[in-house]
Order: sequence, then structure tokens, then C-alpha cells
Amino acid sequence: DPRLAGIAASIRVIPDFPKAGIMFQDITTLLLDVKAFRDTIDLFVDRYKDKGISVVAGIEARGFIFGPPIALAIGAKFVPLRKPKKLPGEVISEEYSLEYGTDKIEMHVGAVEAGERALIVDDLIATGGTLNAAIRLLERVGVEVYECACLMELPELKGRERLGDKPLFVLVQSS
Ligand code: IMP
Repeated sequence: DPRLAGIAASIRVIPDFPKAGIMFQDITTLLLDVKAFRDTIDLFVDRYKDKGISVVAGIEARGFIFGPPIALAIGAKFVPLRKPKKLPGEVISEEYSLEYGTDKIEMHVGAVEAGERALIVDDLIATGGTLNAAIRLLERVGVEVYECACLMELPELKGRERLGDKPLFVLVQSS
């Protein structure tokens, strides 16, 4: 698709952020490019409309930028999956491992019902730990995860392998 080159070009790389050795993929520059931002949403909407998806689950923080416009366009509700202690209501949580230690993501109890079909959205998959936890969180309450969607994948980190047989769709790959 000819739109993908413009999307890839609009993502800025910042070396040594947040620490030395990391090449941070910064999607805030994509948001400044109205065509690239619109093309991004359009590509996801074309793929996910009419698939029976009733919930888009967005991962904090950048899944909160891309998830809601996709949700509205395909007629699905939006559910935020948040870092610990951010959601005010009763939550369920899933832990995942980081390079050092662990982290958690949380979802409000009652936000989704068993039998619903979900799309999980984030900006980027690195090791796949975050998306793996999001899948477990939704499946625990009986939701079918249709697919995970990210703008970008870092294929060298093999995050895709941590998703098991769950399909992952990305627009751009980066080294
Ligand atoms: P993973 O759990 O290792 O796959 O890391 C993915 C999570 O970390 C996502 O929520 C991303 O937003 C974030 N992340 C990791 N590396 C980058 C990056 O280079 N740019 C933007 N987000 C990143």
C-alpha cells in the first residue's frame, strides 16, 4: 500500500531514549502529519470494519491515541488497559516481566462481557510482554481476542513469538 511509506517516514527515531542504547520510535511526529495520521487510522479501519469486533482495548499510553478513532469508526466501544493504580473502579490485573522486575496492566471489572470480540491496539510491539498480558487479561474474562494491531514492530526482539497463535498485524517494521 503506497500509504505505508509516508507513515514509516513520519515516525521519528530518537537515539538513547529513555536510556543509552535504545533507539526510541517516537510516534508523536506521525500525529503532526495529518495525512499520515489519517492514513494510519484508515488502514486499521479498513481491516477491522465488519469483523464483528465489539470492543477495542487500547494499551496505556499510546494505545489511547490510536484505539479510540478506530473504535468509533468500526462501531465498537473503547476500553483502556492501564498501568497499576490508575483506574478508579474495581479492576482485574495481569502481570508481565520486564528486563528488570515486573509490571502490570489493569482493566475495569464489567468493561467487557464474556463472548465479546476484541481488537487490542498499541503503538509498538517490542518483546511482546505487554500484548501477551493484555491477551491474558481479556481471555480470562471470556473475551475472544480477534487480533493485536500495532503501528510498528521491532522484529529482532521476536515479540510476535510471545503471542502464541494470536495474530498480530503491523503497518511498519523497524530494526
Ligand atoms: P514490549 O512489552 O516489550 O513489547 O514493549 C511494548 C511497550 O513498550 C508498548 O506499550 C510500547 O508503547 C512501549 N515501547 C517500547 N519501545 C518503544 C519505542 O521504541 N517507542 C515507543 N514505545 C515503545
